[in-house]
Amino acid sequence: MPELPEVEITACLIDAAVAGGEIESALAPGINALKTFDPPLTALTGRRLQHVGRRGKLFVIDVDGDLAILIHLMSAGRLQLFDSRASLRDRTSRFLLRLTDGRELRLREFGTRQRAWVKLLRAADLDAEETLAELGPEAWPDPPDFGELLDQPRPLYALLRDQHVIAGIGRSWVDEILHTAMVSPFKRGSDLDEDEARRLRETTIQVLGDAVAHYEAGLSLPIPDKLPMPLTVHRRNGEPCPRCGDQLEAVFYEDYVMCYCPTCQTDGKLLKDRRLSRLLK
Ligand SMILES: [Zn+2]
Repeated sequence: MPELPEVEITACLIDAAVAGGEIESALAPGINALKTFDPPLTALTGRRLQHVGRRGKLFVIDVDGDLAILIHLMSAGRLQLFDSRASLRDRTSRFLLRLTDGRELRLREFGTRQRAWVKLLRAADLDAEETLAELGPEAWPDPPDFGELLDQPRPLYALLRDQHVIAGIGRSWVDEILHTAMVSPFKRGSDLDEDEARRLRETTIQVLGDAVAHYEAGLSLPIPDKLPMPLTVHRRNGEPCPRCGDQLEAVFYEDYVMCYCPTCQTDGKLLKDRRLSRLLK
């Protein structure tokens, strides 16, 4: 599940490898992957890739001729650069950028659902694009003051993952950030005092920055289909807490799981299992 660190490192590696490369053709084999029709994909032919960057969990690829490609991996996508072209049998391919030097930038998606998407936009229309226009400030490397940013009566677990509030954090890294900060996932943003807000901001920068550094040290292209994430708490329920050794617990939701350490984060209290409470209603 790619979040800010995974998208950041992918963008950096691909940018270093393809910036300046010339596009031979663009194809969208995924039935629903391409969400725009004007400009058409043929507008990319003969254009050069200028920069591969990131906003929140999205890729923004600047192309000369004032074009921009916006890519959202959703939960199971990967943006990968290959030295050769995809076999037409590759059912994971959603969007392909073929370069004149024979390489191919491929948006692939694993799993059963097709949710990853691509938009080809005029550069002038990029900022007004609905997903980007609604993004909050970047969670890394320098987010604004958390006291103001998170001043809402909603649990931190939901607030930090809300891309409209702060951009880049998802289900995996929110567990790591809150555990490192030793804050309860259910504490409300508006209940943070000045000191807690400052420490949570610093922890967010540190956890995401450490993850980017971890990938920088070990990753090269193409980004593997299954990227091992350096997580110590997320989906580790039942295992010992890496800090205190007590057992990590989890709250299960319909399609995800939130992990925390009761000793480090909730004064020993177990949080309610949402699955169970819904069934009991
Ligand atoms: Zn602990």
